[in-house]
Amino acid sequence: MKIQNTKKRILEKTLDNLSSERKSPVSGLIVLSILYLGSYFVMPFLLNSNFAIDYNGTSFGLNAFAGVLSSICNIFAILLTLYYGDVGFTISISVLLLNIPMIISNTMRSQNISNISGVFVTLVTILTLIVIYFKNKGIERYQDKLRKQAVTDILTGLPNRFACAELVDDLVKKNQPFTVVSINLNGFNDINDTMGFDIGNEVLMELSTKWKLLADMGASGTLDFIARVGGDEFNLIIRKYRSIKDLINTLHMYRDVLGNKLLIHDYEIHISAAYGYAEYPADGSDADSLFSYSNKAMLKAKESKEDNKILRFTDDMLIDRHVTEVENEIKTAIINNSIFFNLQPQFDMNHKLRGFEALARMKNKNGEFIPPGEFIPIAEKAGLIDKVDSAVFRKAAKFIGNLIQETDADILLSINISVKHIMKRHFLDELKEILDTCNLSPRNLEIEITESILIESVEKASKCIGELKAMGIHIAIDDFGTGYSSLSYLFNFPATLLKVDKSFIDNMNNNETSKKYVSTIISLGHIMGIDVLSEGVETDEQLETLRKIGCDYIQGYIWGKPLTENEAKEVVLNSF
Ligand code: C2E
Ligand code: CA
Ligand code: CA
Repeated sequence: MKIQNTKKRILEKTLDNLSSERKSPVSGLIVLSILYLGSYFVMPFLLNSNFAIDYNGTSFGLNAFAGVLSSICNIFAILLTLYYGDVGFTISISVLLLNIPMIISNTMRSQNISNISGVFVTLVTILTLIVIYFKNKGIERYQDKLRKQAVTDILTGLPNRFACAELVDDLVKKNQPFTVVSINLNGFNDINDTMGFDIGNEVLMELSTKWKLLADMGASGTLDFIARVGGDEFNLIIRKYRSIKDLINTLHMYRDVLGNKLLIHDYEIHISAAYGYAEYPADGSDADSLFSYSNKAMLKAKESKEDNKILRFTDDMLIDRHVTEVENEIKTAIINNSIFFNLQPQFDMNHKLRGFEALARMKNKNGEFIPPGEFIPIAEKAGLIDKVDSAVFRKAAKFIGNLIQETDADILLSINISVKHIMKRHFLDELKEILDTCNLSPRNLEIEITESILIESVEKASKCIGELKAMGIHIAIDDFGTGYSSLSYLFNFPATLLKVDKSFIDNMNNNETSKKYVSTIISLGHIMGIDVLSEGVETDEQLETLRKIGCDYIQGYIWGKPLTENEAKEVVLNSF
């Protein structure tokens, strides 16, 4: 919608520019006309005057200035024609034509034949004005054409999206009730594919002519406006109806136009559509939401697969079906305890294993993976993230606890926990219970808190996080660099690790600023006694740069993708 609004603003500006020529102020016309006519009144007086000015012994007759004034008059005539089109041209030409007999009579009276040259100058000026006038007319015609094109759909001649949006904006401003209907033809692409674009275009033209006729004749009893707003998309704006029954009646009339087969080049074409509508002000209070809501209702009508279905917008259409599906998958996975984890290894710069980050994994009912980037945000919004985090924590802690017992490896388990979860009263009890049952020492646990979420509640969270640190648990700030945390809070925050976000590592070798940024984070961390880990390291060049700028740890595909339990065990056995 934003893009659409920007386009609309550009179009409005263009239209303003196009019409600027015609908007010359009336006051200018009056002033120019007075000066022009005034000059002509003064002219005979100058010509007939015997008055002379003496300058340095040379005498200048006032009649010598008549030529200068005549040139000024011609300039006024040109300005009037340039800026005031028909009116200016008529005034100028009339005065100039009247001027010709005047010059001739003056010439005859003064018996000075040289004055007749004024007639030729006047004739040349008239010719110039005619050329300017017709040139201007051409430009105006072109501007009119552009203005018309800007609000008209070229193929069908119906108003376009811009014109429709203008009307709806206007109706909202005037607070007049109306309904926006989104119409989308069914199977139009098939017509294009099987019969060709020409037939497709003719279908659109034929249909548009019929709908336009219906709108223009007012046969529906309501005031209708039909626009083509996309390939096979139309908007109908219905006004002046007394009841929903009238509205539906009008909608049926438009739908019935499609009921009859269209005959195009001896082809009988049957076409149907899906209709969705939203009413102002009942369903939406501004143009953007009305268009969006009617469109949503149309999509729902389309989904039903029923031809010519008409649906009104309802609030539940705003709920994204896919999101709801994923949300249900998460709930099912929690109940079935089927959320599991992968472990992504973290290393120091000498490739010595530091530990693993536990990453949540989930499959849908068809056994396909749902990426965490998709289900984690949905779990967060649905208030299910605590349960997801706990499930991953419990299972990963059990696995790493056992692995440490078995191998005596000194490794860390990093888990992702939301700040809100940490601040809940039962979190500490739950954590202690998990550590106890899994035989995992707090020293082997690291909790990752995302920077952007942390800064929203840093003050309240500091106490809980302080308690975790006091237990010996490591605290990492995840996705560091994306959350704009301030230095002052960083100094007071009990973090033990900064995890530089992958986006900075990605850009580090082709963008000097990103490199300096990572280097600064590393220096900053070290000044505060905090280690720094770079996430998403994929290439040797990145690794080399990170070594040079003093990074402590890395996590990335270069040395290890997220692993299954068995694969992770293998890495541990090979490391110690
Ligand atoms: P994150 O915490 O920043 O985790 C790192 C993500 O980067 C993981 O994606 C990991 O697979 C990916 N990654 C690591 N190294 C590389 C690399 O070299 N190249 C590329 N292209 N990617 C790399 P994943 O597993 O898809 O997780 C995405 C995000 O989901 C995580 O980002 C985290 O914010 C969230 N998440 C995952 N598991 C959990 C969980 O148990 N609880 C919570 N609250 N969030 C989780
Ligand atoms: Ca993380
Ligand atoms: Ca991260």
